Amino acid sequence: MTNETTLDKNITTLAFAKALDAADPIAHMREHFSIPKQASGENEYYFTGNSLGLQPKLAREAVIELLDAWQQRGVKGHFEGDYPWMPYHEFLTEQAAEIVGALPKEVVMMNSLTANLHFMMASFYQPTQQRSKILIEDHAFPSDHYAVESQLKHHNKNVDDNLLLWTPRAGEELLNYDDLWQIIEQHGDEIALILLPGVQYYTGQVLDMKRITEVAQAKGIKVGFDLAHAAGNIELSLHDWQVDFACWCSYKYLNSGAGSVAGCFVHQKHVENTELNRLAGWWGHDKSSRFKMENTFKPIPSAEGWQLSNPPVLSLAAVRGSFDTIKLAGGMKPLREKSLKLSQYLIDLIAAELGSKIRIITPLENSQRGSQLSLMVNVAGLDGRAMYSALEENGVTTDWREPNVIRVAPVPLYNSFQDVYHFVRILKECI
Ligand SMILES: *Cc1c(COP(=O)(O)O)cnc(C)c1O
Repeated sequence: MTNETTLDKNITTLAFAKALDAADPIAHMREHFSIPKQASGENEYYFTGNSLGLQPKLAREAVIELLDAWQQRGVKGHFEGDYPWMPYHEFLTEQAAEIVGALPKEVVMMNSLTANLHFMMASFYQPTQQRSKILIEDHAFPSDHYAVESQLKHHNKNVDDNLLLWTPRAGEELLNYDDLWQIIEQHGDEIALILLPGVQYYTGQVLDMKRITEVAQAKGIKVGFDLAHAAGNIELSLHDWQVDFACWCSYKYLNSGAGSVAGCFVHQKHVENTELNRLAGWWGHDKSSRFKMENTFKPIPSAEGWQLSNPPVLSLAAVRGSFDTIKLAGGMKPLREKSLKLSQYLIDLIAAELGSKIRIITPLENSQRGSQLSLMVNVAGLDGRAMYSALEENGVTTDWREPNVIRVAPVPLYNSFQDVYHFVRILKECI
């Protein structure tokens, strides 16, 4: 007995990981996912849910149901069955709103992430002589950077003069708030829009969205967030934080399949503003008169008013199965609780087993990180990219980002503490 207790306190043992799994109230959620297999037939150790979430069994079922409905009903599928296609996106609204901390009228699942960024900027980037700049982070995801640059050009604004970058200090990876406050202090009156990530994709740093929104809006700046790495990962309160708009994809922590339909948030204070410029389509038009096929656009007074096209139901079915899976887990609160424990265990285990051979660039405080930890291999003569490949050969799926980071995301829905244990064991063997 004494021996066992001592053993259990030693975090480097498999018994310790097993005990953590036994005490995990949502360990059973793993059964709701299909886990890819290694050549040996064993499950992969999958740590890439930050890039592409695994398939929820319910998503597969919902897509097959949808295919069957199409096969059996043809056009009548728009109106018939438990999930008719015409309002299909509406079946997702409540759960999407819960995931990002919004009112149902503030969210809609539509389009793809980068497309939504453009549609939101069509409404929220309205440059004037005085206020024409957009502020982003220096290492923004390329798609976001391209979208912003092309918006500037679309408005005939010179990119060099109008694109402001929040850059980490020399020799540092993380964004420093003092620098942001200073840019806002200095250029606040010239900035029309700040577009930042909720969770930075490379470092895993979680930004203080509430504070950024407050500081920027006090200067009359509109604030939007790209939540690609935040939605389904950390708890969000977009409505309470007064964020103007936000966009996110559904295939990372939301497990809805590659390229699946994205989410979009427009704050309540804007949804009824019919004067806002927007790039419109018939699905954003008032539902009661949509099929009168008239030519006077009357936007729906909710985020739905930004929709263009009738909903892509095959992808939305996958989203539905995925949201139902998150609901089964009890929503974001228990997921975030487990996520913090999983990543803390990973941090502790790396420290115990590998010490300074691995440097974690993600901030270690809970409030500043989500599931993902970004690791740098810190061993003379050992190339990070080679290490990433060695992990892959040993059944561990992580992802490599240039120039030198291995991103690892233990995801609370389907990763176990034993997965984390095996990851560190194999990493140590590879080193
Ligand atoms: C994943 C990701 C994207 C991808 O954009 P898509 O339009 O879905 O292809 C864009 N921006 C960020 C920050 C991302 O993390």
